[in-house]
Amino acid sequence: MTGPGRRSPEWPSGASTVVGVMGDPVAHSLSPRLHNAAFDALGIDWVSVGFRVPAGQAAGALDGVRALGLAGLSVTMPHKQAVAALVDELEPDAALLDAVNTVVRRPDGRLVGASTDGAGFLDALERATGSRPAGWRCAVVGAGGAARAVVLALARAGAAQVLVVNRSAGRAEAAAALAGPAGAVAGPGDLRGCDLVVQATPVGMAGQAPGSPVPASVFGPGQVAVDLVYHPATTAFLADAAAAGASPLGGLGMLVHQAALAVDRWTGRIAPREAMWAAVAGAGPTR
Ligand code: NAP
Repeated sequence: MTGPGRRSPEWPSGASTVVGVMGDPVAHSLSPRLHNAAFDALGIDWVSVGFRVPAGQAAGALDGVRALGLAGLSVTMPHKQAVAALVDELEPDAALLDAVNTVVRRPDGRLVGASTDGAGFLDALERATGSRPAGWRCAVVGAGGAARAVVLALARAGAAQVLVVNRSAGRAEAAAALAGPAGAVAGPGDLRGCDLVVQATPVGMAGQAPGSPVPASVFGPGQVAVDLVYHPATTAFLADAAAAGASPLGGLGMLVHQAALAVDRWTGRIAPREAMWAAVAGAGPTR
């Protein structure tokens, strides 16, 4: 891969700045492809790779970041919570969510933890619809890490209401509380008439439970339906939404834009979003 900028023909070399994604599994992650597309388009001597780090070994991995001088890391399953407890500082959203998807090593060596998932979700929504969800009636299905990031982002963006629908009531309440007065726990029937419905469970993901966690009858024209699952590209949730006249949107956009926000933080440059999109257009099996 050669970029248009200042790279030497030997790239990557001993002089390259290294970042990566840590997780388990990680071999099929799209993150290095996204990061490297950005570095290539920026023409900078940076490289991103995958680091398979088994559960329970996040502390050793962060010591490795310090010792090896990595510029940062993306963090995926199963480490987002563990890393939040291990970095030297947390950005405010990461502290609220108790989860980190991006580690930035500052020039003084301190590791800062950020969560770019929620902002990445909003950027992907805006790219697809041309709008931010201010004043929208929104619902999020699920109450895990991804759902919590989206609930917080929707509330920050001024959503009029953020309903949380989840099979476990306790987790639903905790997620809804992130939205403050706009948040409430709801049931599947309450999704009808929402402007935005976000599917944030693993249902429909390759290798997970098939089908959709909500009845097809909740969808209708004028709604935006986002599935955070991106493999496969089309899920039963999205197919049901499209059949009812709603606008379906898959999870690849959130992945691209949270990665772009990580590149912004690491490099101090504006990551070239369209080059990153081009790198994963038509992407095959991924996690
Ligand atoms: P998580 O923390 O494990 O949470 C999973 C949530 O889904 C929980 O609320 C769980 O309910 C619910 N759930 C699981 N299986 C279910 C089932 N069979 N029926 C109904 N509800 C079920 O997972 P996560 O990290 O939030 O990830 C959720 C999904 O988002 C995954 O598919 C992941 O790949 C995707 N994701 C996408 C992006 C992106 O960039 N597009 C980023 C992050 C995550 P309980 O609370 O009752 O257990």
